[in-house]
Amino acid sequence: MPETADAVLDGLDPEQREVALALGGPVCVLAGAGTGKTRAITHRIAYGVRAGVLQPATVLAVTFTNRAAGEMRGRLRQLGAGGVQARTFHSAALRQLQFFWPKAVGGELPRLLERKVQLVAEAAARCRIRLDRNELRDVTGEIEWAKVTQTVPADYPAVVAKALRDAPRDPAEIGQIYATYEQLKRDRSVIDFEDVLLLTVAILQDRHDIADQVRRQYQHFVVDEYQDVSPLQQRLLDLWLGDRDSLCVVGDASQTIYSFTGATPDHLLNFRTRHPGATVVRLVRDYRSTPQVVHLANGLLSQARGRAAEHRLELVSQRGPGPEPVYAEYADEPAEAEGTARRVRDLIAAGVPAGEIAVLYRINAQSEVYEQALADAGVPYQLRGAERFFERQEVREAGIALRGAARAGGNDSLLDGAEDLPAQVRAVLSTKGWTTEPPAGSGAVRDRWESLAALVRLAEDFARARPGATLSDLVAELDERAAAQHAPTVQGVTLASLHAAKGLEWDAVFLVGLTEGMMPITYAKTDEQVEEERRLLYVGVTRARVHLTLSWSLSRSPGGRASRRPTRFLKGLRPGSGALGTTVHGGGQGSVERGSAPARRRQRGPVRCRVCGATLTEAGAMKLMRCEDCPSDMDEGLYERLRDWRAERAGELGQPAYCVFTDKTLMAIAERVPATGGELASIAGVGTRKLNRFGADVLAICAGGEGGAEADED
Ligand code: ATP
Ligand code: MG
Repeated sequence: MPETADAVLDGLDPEQREVALALGGPVCVLAGAGTGKTRAITHRIAYGVRAGVLQPATVLAVTFTNRAAGEMRGRLRQLGAGGVQARTFHSAALRQLQFFWPKAVGGELPRLLERKVQLVAEAAARCRIRLDRNELRDVTGEIEWAKVTQTVPADYPAVVAKALRDAPRDPAEIGQIYATYEQLKRDRSVIDFEDVLLLTVAILQDRHDIADQVRRQYQHFVVDEYQDVSPLQQRLLDLWLGDRDSLCVVGDASQTIYSFTGATPDHLLNFRTRHPGATVVRLVRDYRSTPQVVHLANGLLSQARGRAAEHRLELVSQRGPGPEPVYAEYADEPAEAEGTARRVRDLIAAGVPAGEIAVLYRINAQSEVYEQALADAGVPYQLRGAERFFERQEVREAGIALRGAARAGGNDSLLDGAEDLPAQVRAVLSTKGWTTEPPAGSGAVRDRWESLAALVRLAEDFARARPGATLSDLVAELDERAAAQHAPTVQGVTLASLHAAKGLEWDAVFLVGLTEGMMPITYAKTDEQVEEERRLLYVGVTRARVHLTLSWSLSRSPGGRASRRPTRFLKGLRPGSGALGTTVHGGGQGSVERGSAPARRRQRGPVRCRVCGATLTEAGAMKLMRCEDCPSDMDEGLYERLRDWRAERAGELGQPAYCVFTDKTLMAIAERVPATGGELASIAGVGTRKLNRFGADVLAICAGGEGGAEADED
């Protein structure tokens, strides 16, 4: 810990220091990736606290992800400024909402809806609007956009028209689904992610007494990643701030990657207009990455277009030289995953810690094949952003066990010096399935072990940071982290989507699946959407300190047609793509490794697509036994007859249609055309009860009949 307030400033360069010293008024930092924006604001807070200018409890630091917030809390503690709140907009709002709800509304805060897609699908069905998977995703995104731009359902079509927005479907239909979705939420007493912000805004707007109370508590605000602030978050920030101006924002317009949620870098770029007295600081020294990585990052940005691009800043690396980025082309996806796992293993063997390596992809569904390949290669890994660590069953059970042990006097043994904290934790967790060595293979047992191992590591880190800490202290720390949904850093390779990687850094980064269709993603159609994809790749590239590997595969599955092309964004930047004539590495640096994979040993057979052979990860796809975008061999006429029959039955039963069969199940039936009860029962979603109830009808329709309206109930 720095000894004095001034010593906190020692870790900063002159421009960063300017940020830290401007404690009085509004400050805006515009700077590229890795230039120390996050570091500058963390030191600014610590300096202010240590110098006695800022009361820790009056400072609210807002970051973009829970992980980033957790990291900031850690850094603040190390700098001697623990006690400062570092949260996401969402968690800060949720906390205030929980606190003020009884007073402002009465009763308990409604339950928070985990995923809205399901409810949107239901709303669409109620409106008798059929959405395929992509449309469902787009419509859900549209509803999110409407909410963060504070557009109510009735206004949605007009707002879309006025904004010249490209809606994924007829805006009137979307407005209708949106209204039904809101109604369903009310009926079931649930609120969604955006409601947390909307309701907090509403309460702060309407209740001046509550707004005053919040403003008395928080007087100084710091916002990281400000380029991605949504209009709703901005509104909340304005309400928190009131007429004061102790606000410091930092961001990089070239890293705007949440436009699809209504975020815009305009708030960042126009900060001076709203706060005329603001100190504006630009940082250009890149402390994170080697000149080789920075060269590629600058190259990517030089091709960018649009408002964000006009404000780009050329990065200048402050580090010594490192290896050139590696470009690797593979025959198919499993080969790419195995090649990546091999390289990861080589890096670890060469001394790079597993926790300093990340594999980043465009969408979460890409993770499974990498999970499998890493598990096969015996490399520990952790998923980032895919599930919430503290909500996992085994983590909750472990927490209960640790709490029990702490209560049962686990703290006393420390006084005796009998056992240190990590040893106590290992002893408790071994009753829950933790072992020194990981179990073989991947799957549920392995997942469970990884979670427990992460807790053990957390205890070790905690004991190192807080010598003399007791089991109760650890339990308190776990509670605090759980409250902030902050998963501990495990010593494994990180698997994450590019969006979830924002703000983070690793020694070695693998950017995988860089084909047209994935990067840019197929549904990026407009120029702006394609530009956002380019920025996403820029974010990925700038996560690497030293080692950077970019890879793609020419076909999806082994033996498939090599119809894919590498991403357009690397044109002119990677060898063999235009100006330069060098060949692309085939998997090994300098040497051409065969792209085809060695025989794979799998502990559990993954479900494969019956059309293309790809590994299926999504429940919907598994039900269909094919990727949802692979061509369907469905009998469309049969599907329509099944739907008509379902509507009729649902009407008779007075139930929603999905209670009879979901769309997915009907599609699966229309694809497989079962001839017997056994065949029908083998389709996921049918089950014995439904087989007894509807089996005769369905089989009759499949056999070409009209379906027995006369068939008996049960
Ligand atoms: P991003 O845009 O990706 O969020 P950033 O601008 O927030 O990046 P930081 O994460 O704060 O950058 O810093 C990048 C890396 O450079 C960190 O490892 C940080 O500790 C280091 N760094 C930043 N400033 C300095 C400095 N003045 N001296 C030494 N290291 C520094
Ligand atoms: Mg940062």
